[in-house]
Amino acid sequence: MPYFKDWLIIYKVLAIGLLVVFTVTFIVGWWSYQSQSKLMVERSNSENDGIYQKFVAFTKGHIGRGRNFHPHLQAELKSVMGRRENILLLEITDKSGRILASTNEATVGRMTPHLSEHFNAVSDRRTTSTFLAYGRDVRQGQPVSGFGLFDRRHKAQEFVGPLFNMKGELIGVIHIYLSVDRLFRSVVYTVFSLVGIMLLSSAIGIAILLALIWQYIDRPLHTLEETANEVALGRISKRARIESKDEIGRLATSFNLMADSLVSTQFQADTDGLTGLHNYRHFQQYISGQIAFAQRYNRSFSLAIADLDHFKEVNDRYGHTAGDEILRIVAAYLTAQARETDYVARYGGEEFAIVMPEINGADATTALERLRVGFPEAVYVKGGSKTTPIFISIGVADFPKTATDTDSLIAAADAALLFAKRRGRNQVAYYGKLPAAQLEEQDIERLYQRLRRAQRETIEALATAVDARLGYDAGHSNEIGATAAAVARAFDMGEEESSSLSVAAKMRDIGVLSVAPGLLKKSGALTPDELMAIRKSPVYSERILKASTELTNLVPIVLYHHERWDGTGYPEGLKREKIPLGARVLAVAEVYYAMISERPYRKSLTKEQALSEIKRGAGTQFDPDVVKKFVALMSERKAS
Ligand code: GH3
Ligand code: MG
Ligand code: MG
Repeated sequence: MPYFKDWLIIYKVLAIGLLVVFTVTFIVGWWSYQSQSKLMVERSNSENDGIYQKFVAFTKGHIGRGRNFHPHLQAELKSVMGRRENILLLEITDKSGRILASTNEATVGRMTPHLSEHFNAVSDRRTTSTFLAYGRDVRQGQPVSGFGLFDRRHKAQEFVGPLFNMKGELIGVIHIYLSVDRLFRSVVYTVFSLVGIMLLSSAIGIAILLALIWQYIDRPLHTLEETANEVALGRISKRARIESKDEIGRLATSFNLMADSLVSTQFQADTDGLTGLHNYRHFQQYISGQIAFAQRYNRSFSLAIADLDHFKEVNDRYGHTAGDEILRIVAAYLTAQARETDYVARYGGEEFAIVMPEINGADATTALERLRVGFPEAVYVKGGSKTTPIFISIGVADFPKTATDTDSLIAAADAALLFAKRRGRNQVAYYGKLPAAQLEEQDIERLYQRLRRAQRETIEALATAVDARLGYDAGHSNEIGATAAAVARAFDMGEEESSSLSVAAKMRDIGVLSVAPGLLKKSGALTPDELMAIRKSPVYSERILKASTELTNLVPIVLYHHERWDGTGYPEGLKREKIPLGARVLAVAEVYYAMISERPYRKSLTKEQALSEIKRGAGTQFDPDVVKKFVALMSERKAS
């Protein structure tokens, strides 16, 4: 059955069930036929025996009492015959083979086979019939009491037995032929009803089994399959609704937990940690989606970028913590003011983006003007007895009037924001209504800085996603980056190289986003295929980095940071100084922070334990020089 493995469970059960039922029915049917037949033979046998014994007694009593014997015999035959309707033939011969009496009266006086021939005729057929002996074999010269056989073809029991006189001398033979038709019919009936009952009850059993499988296995599995497909297609809020507590219920629970963790991973990657708003990365995706949607369906929408006024001063005066608190309040205020369909994101440090679907720039400006007016009442700082209100400037652009693609839409909103700032802050400016103001040199510089920062934030968001995927806390990559950069400075690597090492640390495992999440958190042993998938992830990292001109220079560090000093690492098995210095530094920092982090499958080490593990790896896993500098840096940090 080459396709058997592709069959649905229900068909497999059906096929196996039927096979078992038929085999068992056949065996039971055969066994019952055999035992019933034996029973039948025994019954007719004992009936035969009864008749025979009767005639033995009769002949012993009558032989030698004169001529009246024959009519007596014939009368006795008839009376026996009259009482048993299953007698087919009953005849008695003398020693020479002449028939003395018979139920078939016409044959009386005729010769039949001689006594011994009679016995032989019966006993010769015993190979094909049931043979019953009442004594010993006549052909071996021994006295016998009779032979019987079951003639299957005629459904009859045939019997031949010797008759003796009072002195015990053989005087003749009795030949009995009993019909067993009725008995045979009852055998067949019994066997057939047994088989029938078995088949019927098996059919009912199989039907119930299939219904149970359908209800408790097939259907829930189908639900699970559909949900898994939905989740795979990106609808990660889908959950399998299976209430049962059995294995499938538990599987569904595990599946739902997995989907939850997928959601939280995505949530972490898409959400700004401070304000809970969407982050820059998510905003970029969202705005591209909005453009595509609006283009396709001929819709319009507006984009606003808002920046707090003089926020640096607020920070300076009240502290960063107070500043953070204000940012949270701003986020809450903007969310409360936004319409149900509006989208709010933290665009940068103290900058926010609001996307307003189905509304043009002029109307958006009116709505945002209201928001701006209410702003200082909702957002303020208390310093002693004084309350300082915070103000906000907003730039607005719209699709398709002022811009028709993502970049130009953002640039337009940005330009409007710059204009609002320059005109005195605390106001809303709509790009479509700007006087043809020339952008000044400093504005261009500012736009360039913004672009760089945007890229930095994308990197941060990706690093957070990688940390989440690997099961680390957010910020794990930042720590590695900062430490690696510090070690690099100790090597006099130069400021630019050192800080690119810190970016490399964040991007070091970007390729794991291509590895299935379950695999990375798997606690048991990995199969060779799974191991291969993980070991290939640096190559994916390389591909991703090469796609960006800004990031290409990170490739050697990222690609080789899983190499080992003794050449047993991956992906290329490079040795010693063949491994780029940056990669050697990153390797130490990464392993160290991995060891002190709590992982799903093991507890974290203390910093001291981790440090001595790192020292132990010097010369085998790690570059001894790097380890030396790393250890020095760590003890310095501990001291300070
Ligand atoms: P203006 O926008 O009115 O020109 O002046 P500004 O002082 O607000 O200037 P800018 O927008 O360039 O300054 C951004 C400042 O916001 C710098 C930094 O002190 C502060 N900031 C940025 N991100 C955060 C943050 O996450 N928390 C806190 N507390 N402050 C932040
Ligand atoms: Mg500002
Ligand atoms: Mg700003």
